[in-house]
Amino acid sequence: MTDLHDETLWRAVLERDAGYDGIFYYGVTTTGVYCRPQCPSRKPKRENTVFSFSGDALQQAGFRPCRRCKPDGVVESDAAEMVVRLCRFIENADTMPSLADIAPFAAMSESAVERLFRGALGISPHEYADAHRRERFRQALQGGMGVLSAAYESGYGSSSRVYEGANGHLGMTPKAYRDRGRGQHIGYTVVDTELGSLLVAGTGKGICSVKLGDNPEVLLDEFRREFAAADLLEAGEEIAEWTGALVDYLSGTVPWPRLPYDVRATAFQRRVWEYLRAIPEGRTKHYSEVAAELGQPTATRAVARACATNPVALVVPCHRVVPKSGGLAGFRWGIERKRALIEMEADPTP
Ligand SMILES: [Zn+2]
Repeated sequence: MTDLHDETLWRAVLERDAGYDGIFYYGVTTTGVYCRPQCPSRKPKRENTVFSFSGDALQQAGFRPCRRCKPDGVVESDAAEMVVRLCRFIENADTMPSLADIAPFAAMSESAVERLFRGALGISPHEYADAHRRERFRQALQGGMGVLSAAYESGYGSSSRVYEGANGHLGMTPKAYRDRGRGQHIGYTVVDTELGSLLVAGTGKGICSVKLGDNPEVLLDEFRREFAAADLLEAGEEIAEWTGALVDYLSGTVPWPRLPYDVRATAFQRRVWEYLRAIPEGRTKHYSEVAAELGQPTATRAVARACATNPVALVVPCHRVVPKSGGLAGFRWGIERKRALIEMEADPTP
């Protein structure tokens, strides 16, 4: 986060803009008093004004709270909270929202939103959205997604638009950026199961890829592309054991096995995935329920994304999450497989 921009703040003081309440305070060096931006008292001269995010810091510097605007009291406006809500709104949008999309959500004018943002964060909503989109793209690549899927997933609309902007930000092309297992020793195997071909791959620490499909060659091709820089080996004993557990589970004769996974992920993805692993077999949750139970009720889309980017099918049972609106939503390995898994878990054969 950059520092507050003084010009913006000074204008807020002159305009007594309550939209900045709780975001910053100003102290007046000639009187030794500090105020909220919307204080009705006479405005100081610019050269006698200092700004701070923190009223406490101004107090410690020797300023007394103003008796009129009581800057040491509770923040009356929800400007700071609004900035946070707008950030969440931008983060959860499927495509990059424009000011025209954001303003109605905030019930503010476009210029007020822009000002609020610049005042609080030092950047425009567009810059914030762009930074967030790049970060999402980077995470999707690291989660093992292909460039094209990652581009759509992170709201670029097409992969060419990523390339347009990516070099400057990533320092290299997206394909080169994704490390694709560089330096890792990965064992893998493909077997037949009740639900078709199953590819299981893992490191010494846990499973790093689980894929389901009709055609083993297609799965292998995709896997080899994703881990092109890794040292790929014949499956060792651990992989065989993990694979056996998944095959037995897919036959419907044993409960879901809780297997270790070794996947790069964000802290949020990991929280979602661990939550999914804790959903009892035979039960499903809505995306919105997962978000609420993780304490982030506005993060429904982010939860859906964490499910969609799950690189270890079954091991992280993302099939246990369905939309509240009904239906099954997407499943990277085929909607019929998701249906079969849910039915199997709901009605296990003894
Ligand atoms: Zn005041």
